[in-house]
Amino acid sequence: MRILVISDIHANITALEAVIAANAMVDAVWCLGDLVGYGPDPNECVERIQALPNLTCLMGNHDAAVIDALDLEKFNHDASLSIHWTKSVLKPANFEYLKSLPERRGSSVFTLVHASPRSPIWEYVLDPYTALLNFSYFETPFALVGHTHLPLAFTEDETSKQVKRELVKSTDQVKLTGRKILNPGSVGQPRDHNPKASFAILDPENMTWRIRRIEYDIASVQNRIIAAGLPEKHAHRLAEGW
Ligand code: ZN
Repeated sequence: MRILVISDIHANITALEAVIAANAMVDAVWCLGDLVGYGPDPNECVERIQALPNLTCLMGNHDAAVIDALDLEKFNHDASLSIHWTKSVLKPANFEYLKSLPERRGSSVFTLVHASPRSPIWEYVLDPYTALLNFSYFETPFALVGHTHLPLAFTEDETSKQVKRELVKSTDQVKLTGRKILNPGSVGQPRDHNPKASFAILDPENMTWRIRRIEYDIASVQNRIIAAGLPEKHAHRLAEGW
């Protein structure tokens, strides 16, 4: 069994289609939220995600802002401009879909949230100390998070209670032992200075986690961002992965 784990699509349909095309044979898709925001294709992304088979999808902070469940003052200027734009173009059915998304899901082994187990919509798990605090906020061995747009793995040492942080490369295979907080990186706006779309393949039988990176037509997305009148910064950053 193989599960495709994706997060932070951010209205980038070109990156999303490339990731889906490369993973036609997966058994299920887990999406950790932020379908919209920053990018030019919110309706296309919400509709494409919904059509995926065996889908579990969570709510992200940009999704929450678009449905008025999160204060826009929490966002920087450029991010809030694209949230306003998204609200103006989003079809009512897609608005309702975002509204229906849960903040937390999971099985007996995996807890799924967008941001962190302690604060599912907002907290960034970037450093070992924040990760350490978060290990007390979920009971399963593993938590899957997005939000930072970085393919990170945090491992808790059960005896010392120390946490190891690692940026996972596409050549690594992470063995799922002990307790970990894992991030698949971002499909539509990677921030580890690698512009390729990032996602993870989880094999729950062999208990492995792999990060994969895939190229897509970045220039076409940049052109649509500019044509929509969205902040140019959101176009520039895609080419450099920040
Ligand atoms: Zn995001």
